[in-house]
Amino acid sequence: MHDKLTIALSKGRIFKETLPLLRHVGIECVDDPETSRKLILDTNLPDVKIVLLRASDVPTYVQYGAADFGVAGKDVLMEHGGEGLYELLDLRIARCRLMVAGRPGVLDTRARLRVATKYVESARRYFAEQGRQVEIIKLYGSMELAPLVDLADCIVDVVDTGNTLRANGLEPLEHMADISSRLIVNRASMKLKHARLQQMVDRIASCVNQEGEKA
Ligand code: AMP
Repeated sequence: MHDKLTIALSKGRIFKETLPLLRHVGIECVDDPETSRKLILDTNLPDVKIVLLRASDVPTYVQYGAADFGVAGKDVLMEHGGEGLYELLDLRIARCRLMVAGRPGVLDTRARLRVATKYVESARRYFAEQGRQVEIIKLYGSMELAPLVDLADCIVDVVDTGNTLRANGLEPLEHMADISSRLIVNRASMKLKHARLQQMVDRIASCVNQEGEKA
C-alpha cells in the first residue's frame, strides 16, 4: 500500500514541462487539462492525483498540506515567502528573469519612482536594499500597460525573450533575479511520507541533472 499523493501544478508551461519529469518517476497524467475542465486530474496510479491551480496558489496548497508537493516558479516563491514548505530542487524549467523595465532613462527621472507590479514583495525588497524610494502600485496583469498610460514610471515583471516589452516600447533596465521552477514539498508530508517522496525527489534530481549535462 502506497501513501496517497497530491501534486499541485499550474496550467501552461509548468504543467507541460513537469510532465516528462513525472513520467520519469512512473507517473502519467491520464486527463488532458487543455480539453478537460476537471481541476483534479487522474494519473495512471490510483493513489496519485494532480490538482491544477493558479500559479500563485501552488505554494499555498503545499504549505497547508492540501498538496504534498508541487512545482512553482521562483518568482511566485519569492512573493509567498516559503513558509511551511521545503524548496528541494531547481527543476531548471520555465526559466526567465525578474526585471525592472520601462522606457530607457526613466529610472533617473524621479526621486520617488512609481513601480507597477504584481511582485509587490520582491519589488519592495529590491528597492529597499538599494535605499531607493519607491511607490509600489499593485497590479494583477498586463503590467506593460502601466508606463504607457502614466500609471507608473516602470514595472517589475518576469521577462523571457523581451518581445512583450519591446512590442510596447519598453526595455529591460535592471536584472533582479534569475527565475526557474522549483520542486516544493510540504514539511509534514516530507516527514510522514518520507520514503516515497525522497525516492521521487532523487529520481527527478537525476533526470534534471542528465538534462543539464545534455544542454
Ligand atoms: P516575453 O518572452 O519576454 O515576451 O514573455 C512573454 C510574457 O510571458 C511576459 O509578459 C511574462 O509575463 C510571461 N513569462 C515569460 N516567461 C515566463 C515564465 N517562465 N514564467 C511565467 N511567466 C513568464
